[in-house]
Amino acid sequence: MSALSLARTNVLALSPYSSARMESGPAPLMLNANESPWPSPGVALELNRYPDPQPAALLERLAHIYDVPAARVLAVRGSDEAIDLLVRAFCRPGIDSIAISPPTFGMYEVCAGIQGAVIESVPLATDDFSLDADAMLAALSSAVRVVFVCSPNNPTGSLVPLATIEHLAGALAGRALVVVDEAYIEFAESDSAAKLLDRYSNLGVLRTLSKAWALAGVRIGTLLAAPELITLLRRIMPPYPLATPCVEIAVAALDVDGERLTGERVATTIAERERLAAALSTLSSVRKVYPSRANFLTVHLHDASHILRGLSAQGIAVRDVGRHPGLRGCLRFTIGTPEENSRLLEALRRIAEAA
Ligand SMILES: *Cc1c(COP(=O)(O)O)cnc(C)c1O
Repeated sequence: MSALSLARTNVLALSPYSSARMESGPAPLMLNANESPWPSPGVALELNRYPDPQPAALLERLAHIYDVPAARVLAVRGSDEAIDLLVRAFCRPGIDSIAISPPTFGMYEVCAGIQGAVIESVPLATDDFSLDADAMLAALSSAVRVVFVCSPNNPTGSLVPLATIEHLAGALAGRALVVVDEAYIEFAESDSAAKLLDRYSNLGVLRTLSKAWALAGVRIGTLLAAPELITLLRRIMPPYPLATPCVEIAVAALDVDGERLTGERVATTIAERERLAAALSTLSSVRKVYPSRANFLTVHLHDASHILRGLSAQGIAVRDVGRHPGLRGCLRFTIGTPEENSRLLEALRRIAEAA
């Protein structure tokens, strides 16, 4: 059964904006899009033409690094855009709902709020932040259309096993999409849910170039899903979503050298995460360091606001995640370079000595 049967009927029926670039590809004389015929002032790139909505070279590189066929790839402006598109395509305001498992990434709730979709919250376990698929299935109403599973989860760092994702996707077939947000999967030393896409047409996987690939400023994310879902979302995307300079930079960064460099940096980040976790757990200001499969550590402190102020006074910004349910008194430390992580430890020791 195709996941399209779950989409809003007006979205299925609407005729998308048909851009000049969609109606005809490049021709020797381009007089169809009211573009300037002259080169852009002040830049070497050819930017006077509108970009290809989904450039083949970019899709090929994304398909390669995520190990899926290009027909399963939708390139978006950061995975945040894919979250928004999914909610808009599947949730009727005031009627349909999304499901989330707090404490989790805030954008699911924000996008649902903008759309007017209802939010069904099924919290993670309070001790180890694991996700109980059966408890979730029992809690969900028949109005749920999109279930967001963040793995590794931000801000807890916990991983949801693929068996749990399979269980959810299987049980929700024909009822809801299961969207696995894998913004941090490169750091998890674990398989992507993308390998389940062939078996579950109601599964989607979000990937991003913003974290492991060091390209947050380029704003390119990816939805991996069934080809018919990719086609559907393209209908509600703006006509020219991806800026040419960003596409060119991403294609260059995703070459073999970029892949190798990213692999090395991921290995360094994982080693540093474990070094930092061990060092932090010896500090008297620390109550608990939560195990993390991502590029950050969430740490429960005896006095988080004191530490936050002390770090800030030393020019170090970390994230206060204490507003999330179950994370009161916690701060989230992004893993930096080895030198940066040592500076963080040094600053924490200085705060302890001053006390
Ligand atoms: C950082 C982050 C994203 C956002 O990624 P962009 O591709 O930069 O929009 C998505 N999901 C989670 C869980 C994140 O932490």
